[in-house]
Amino acid sequence: MTYCEEDLLPLSGLQHFAFCRRQWALIHLEQQWQENLRTVEGTLLHQRAHDASLRERRGDLLILRGLSVVSHTLGLSGQCDVVEFHASPEGIPLHGEEGLWLPFPVEYKRGRPKAHQADELQLCAQAMCLEEMLCCSIPEGALFYGEPRRRTPVAFSPELRERVRSYSDEMHQFYRRGHTPKAKPSKSCNACSLKDLCLPQLTRRGSVSNYLKKAMEELI
Ligand code: SF4
Repeated sequence: MTYCEEDLLPLSGLQHFAFCRRQWALIHLEQQWQENLRTVEGTLLHQRAHDASLRERRGDLLILRGLSVVSHTLGLSGQCDVVEFHASPEGIPLHGEEGLWLPFPVEYKRGRPKAHQADELQLCAQAMCLEEMLCCSIPEGALFYGEPRRRTPVAFSPELRERVRSYSDEMHQFYRRGHTPKAKPSKSCNACSLKDLCLPQLTRRGSVSNYLKKAMEELI
C-alpha cells in the first residue's frame, strides 16, 4: 500500500504510539498537549540539535540538520535532528559532493535511555524514510541522550523494522477511525506528560475535549 500526501501522519507520533496509544490519540487526534517540564527540556535539547548551520563538512563527514523525510510506504513524514553522511564505499552519491556517502541518522532525546523501544522505533522509521528517499540501505544510527551526554548506537534489525511497519499500520487505522483508546493506568503513566489530563474518570465521561468543555462550563 502507498499513502498519498494528505494521508501522511507525523513520524514523531510513532514514539508516542509505542509509549501509549492513548497518549498518541490525545496528542494527534484530540490535540491536548500539556507542556510540562519534561517536554520543555526535550524542546530545548532539540533546539540545540537544530542550531548552527544546516550543513556542515568535517573531513570525511558531512552533517545535515533538520532534514525533512517522508515514506509513502509507511505513510509517515517528519524531520531528522541530524543525519551524518560518512564517506564509504557502501554509500550513495550526493549532489555537489564527490565520492560515496552512507547516511547515519542521529536523534537527540532528553533523559536517559529507556526500557521501552519508542526512541529506537522513531529513529528506525527515520532511517526507513531515508532509505526510500535515497534508494539506499542504512544499517544503523544513534540516539544521543541528555543524561548521560553520550551516543547509544542502534542497529536497524529486521525485527525493529517490522515493528515500525506494524505500528505505522495500526496508527493509520486508529487515525481513520478517530479512535481514542481508554486509559489503562500503568507504570508508564508516571513518566507521561499528559497524566494530569488523562485521569481514569475522563474515559467514563467521554473524550478529553468534552471533559474540558464541561469543566469550563462548570467554572462559568
Ligand atoms: S497517563 Fe497513562 S494511560 Fe494516560 S496517556 Fe499517559 S501513559 Fe497513557
